[in-house]
Amino acid sequence: MTQTLPIHPNSMSSRDVARHLHPQTDLVGHREKGAFTIVSGEGVRVTDDDGAEYIDAMAGLWSAALGYSENRLAKAAYDQLCELPYTSTFAQRTHPKVIELSERLVSIAPAGLTRAFFACSGSEVIDTAAKIVWAYWNARGRPEKKKLIARDRAYHGSTIVSGSLTGLPRMHALFDLPVDRIVRAPCPHYWKNAHKDESEDAFTQRMGEELAALIDAEGADTIGAFFAEPIQGAGGVILPSKGYFDEVQALCDAHDILFIADEVICGFGRTGTMWGSEHYNLQPDMVTCAKALSASYAPIAALLMNDDIYDGLLEHSRQTGLFGHGFTYSGHPMAAAVALEALKIYEELDIVSLVQERAPALQKGLAQFSEHPIVGEVRGVGLLAGVELCADRSARTPFDPALSVGVQVQEVAKENGVLVRALGDTLAFCPPMIISEEDIRHIVSVFGAALDSVYKGLDGV
Ligand code: PLP
Repeated sequence: MTQTLPIHPNSMSSRDVARHLHPQTDLVGHREKGAFTIVSGEGVRVTDDDGAEYIDAMAGLWSAALGYSENRLAKAAYDQLCELPYTSTFAQRTHPKVIELSERLVSIAPAGLTRAFFACSGSEVIDTAAKIVWAYWNARGRPEKKKLIARDRAYHGSTIVSGSLTGLPRMHALFDLPVDRIVRAPCPHYWKNAHKDESEDAFTQRMGEELAALIDAEGADTIGAFFAEPIQGAGGVILPSKGYFDEVQALCDAHDILFIADEVICGFGRTGTMWGSEHYNLQPDMVTCAKALSASYAPIAALLMNDDIYDGLLEHSRQTGLFGHGFTYSGHPMAAAVALEALKIYEELDIVSLVQERAPALQKGLAQFSEHPIVGEVRGVGLLAGVELCADRSARTPFDPALSVGVQVQEVAKENGVLVRALGDTLAFCPPMIISEEDIRHIVSVFGAALDSVYKGLDGV
């Protein structure tokens, strides 16, 4: 059953509704409310088709790290398209930009990661990581080690394996996911998941014990890898409890379980360290990155791996003659040139120091809402933050989802020129890393007013 299209049949919104199937979108809402059309961007601001301007406090999708008018990236793309728009990287073919990008990524990667594989999206490199885990254990003569652990509320992407690793039921129901081989571990969100009067240390210890019990129950010999975002992004900007990753790392080491850090959001300075892995002192066997890799000026993602994994793949090639995985656009020259330029810009800006310098404006700014009547928890690291709303903070009672309180706050902020993202009832903040303190203060103040306004509207609920 189709509905009539919105009033102006030739508006961009109506044309979009008529012909465009959107990713990660409520299709009914799209038909009823129309599309939100962004036509241009400048600095940290974007402009819609009515000329309204917004500060993009989410850097697109946690990704436009250098804002919307970094001409050096545009020029890098143009120059590369003029020089060599495409060559494949299959079967030993290569080109200068992908060589340089591989070297540069390895030079800034977490310790021990020595090789880069390229794809176009975070989902593809997560799927690649899963396939490499399976190939690695085949090559190492332990073919039973195939299960992949991922956590509740994880977001690792939308393809079949990455979507299965994702721990959000709304991503599974329609698609018969997860596939088998996926083992779900609890989410280490202290504020939300702690028992009454449980200390953070006790909670962390319990998380470790539950993970150990899970590994035992499944059989350590059947588990190939543990996937984790250092900070869980789309699941609600969830920080792990203190010491959690020490427990995880120890269990992975004890049971020969590969550790894969999904740095698609955290990578390249977002947390005030180059990698989320650095912030949490992780020693991953593989790292996935994307988004800020090109500051979103080109679709590119990378999987970085250590020598041991590479040697396993090499062994597999010795046996079969081929590492039989890869994409037409793996290491695309234009995307590689843009990524290389983005990495140069990060270095020139000293992006890690810049984020450290600007982070307090965001974190302290938002922390002032910790006691707001509809706020449960304010959390964050670097230029990444989440504010979780709830009906009763001390009892951690969520709002009735039917009220869509998070979306209400998001919409009021938008009406006032600030784009934040409601992940259920958690509002996420991940502005371009070049944002000024003044613009951060503006985001915080518009957000505070949006909280007040929604709170007033909830009177009596
Ligand atoms: N991993 C993480 C941590 C992500 O946040 C995302 C996307 O938001 C992905 C993987 C998937 O990336 P993509 O949407 O580029 O496939």
